[in-house]
Amino acid sequence: MNNQIPTKRVKSDGDTLLIHSIFHTIQGEGPFTGVPAVFVRLGGCNLQCPGCDTEYTKGTETMAMGTIVNNINYKLDGNTTTKLIVITGGEPFRQNISELCNVLNIHGFEVQIETNGVMAPQGDFDTWPTIICSPKTTKLNPKLLPHITAFKYVANWQEVNEHDGLPLTALNHQATPQLARPPEDFDGDVYLQPMDMTEYYDEDIEGSLEEQSVWAEQLDGLVESHNQANLDFVVKSCMQHGYTIQLQIHKLLNLE
Ligand code: SF4
Repeated sequence: MNNQIPTKRVKSDGDTLLIHSIFHTIQGEGPFTGVPAVFVRLGGCNLQCPGCDTEYTKGTETMAMGTIVNNINYKLDGNTTTKLIVITGGEPFRQNISELCNVLNIHGFEVQIETNGVMAPQGDFDTWPTIICSPKTTKLNPKLLPHITAFKYVANWQEVNEHDGLPLTALNHQATPQLARPPEDFDGDVYLQPMDMTEYYDEDIEGSLEEQSVWAEQLDGLVESHNQANLDFVVKSCMQHGYTIQLQIHKLLNLE
């Protein structure tokens, strides 16, 4: 259960940003799947999805632009082949990230942003970054919408709209009647990922050692069959509706 308190939009000139962490890894999803990238995880989120397992509040630090760039270079440690920066969160558009994107472009980096789609971008972007929207509510901000490159959804086969093959909710956040959809004339990619049900079946097991062992085995079986059902559903939905299947390869690779 996500207990991190939601935080409001910060209006600023973008000269300083609240940063959670900066790390060098492989992008595991979306159009840059498999590409080495430095992730800049911003602090705070406007939502509090109950099923969110991302840490974005503890240990945050306000950093000036020069410090952020120095941190990125420090993580790269002389590596000049990584050309992708992924700005994620929390929710990146809670803060004014235009200046950071512009500075990164000047330094020769390509920028991708991961957003829940609720907030409008602040400031002026010299070049619009690649924006991947993973809706968590019924709303998409009209000022952000024209700049969205691709959408991402995670499906549990038990909670989907039969007509478009997309999930009704995400990470147990309320979305009635259903999560925001791409506009009808949207011509970018829509990624669909099978939900991993491991956490869903995670529970304290009591009883004798023998009983615990039997129950643990049964839970493993439930997780496996539910994950397979989600995968089957996603394959079918992608083939029927033209979505792109996505498997989070950073998790398969045990990367951050
Ligand atoms: S919008 Fe994203 S970061 Fe924020 S609580 Fe939901 S899943 Fe977590």
